[in-house]
Amino acid sequence: MAIKTKSVAGRKKAAALTPPQKLSAGKLKAAVVGVPAAKARAIAASEPVAGKVKRGKTVNPLAPERVAAILDALRKTYPNVVCALLHKNAFELTIATILSAQTTDVGVNKATPELFRMFPTPRALAAASLAEIEPLIKTTGFYRAKAKNIQGAARVLVEQFGGVVPKTVEEMIQLPGVARKTANVVLGSWYDIASGVVVDTHVLRLSRRLELTQQTDPVKVERDLIKVIPRDRWIQFSHELIHHGRQVCVARTPRCADCSLERLCNSADKTWSSH
Ligand code: SF4
Repeated sequence: MAIKTKSVAGRKKAAALTPPQKLSAGKLKAAVVGVPAAKARAIAASEPVAGKVKRGKTVNPLAPERVAAILDALRKTYPNVVCALLHKNAFELTIATILSAQTTDVGVNKATPELFRMFPTPRALAAASLAEIEPLIKTTGFYRAKAKNIQGAARVLVEQFGGVVPKTVEEMIQLPGVARKTANVVLGSWYDIASGVVVDTHVLRLSRRLELTQQTDPVKVERDLIKVIPRDRWIQFSHELIHHGRQVCVARTPRCADCSLERLCNSADKTWSSH
């Protein structure tokens, strides 16, 4: 499907582009994962310009060579990236991912060490009362609902799965608080099973900016991504996009001047463009 590379709004925005900015020391410090901005710019410079993209011309954003170039730049920018949620086993990752709904991984990582110290196994958490669980996870928000979910998930793990986190999406989504996203996180990050592509708020936003989907519903976005991303890249692709969305392609003012995907990107949200 051929589409316009830049909308009218995008071209207007491009007219107000700012030159590349040097990262401040504070920003560099915050960029804890991924290569430094200078190397990201070098990676961007080494990529083909959006697979033959030229402003005003039409291209197929799903052309295999363009998708391959995006994957290549992401892999170089975030080598060996892993899930940011602290965990030591599949049970802990399942609980941490349930708790991560509507909050940051940093916030979850503050709460889970004590939670897992108090309740280190599915059996222990299943036997805990809500009054015991709630204060431990209060900082993650929606703590009453989340306490019920993680207690319920632990009970289902004990009663239906012998205390072992299952290895299929169909079984995982039987746990309270677990939908496809959480199932994909656990299966991918712990079991190394490519069950799908994790679509969180960052993956959704970036997939749209990179024109890999036009959908807004996470399930439909995942369906689109599965069609164009090779299966052996599903797990890492999610991690890479999540980190890129946190550090560079942020929601309000994406840092396009420091983005290793810049030459491949035609988003109307761009704040700087080289092409
Ligand atoms: S919008 Fe900017 S930061 Fe986001 S992918 Fe495109 S060029 Fe990179």
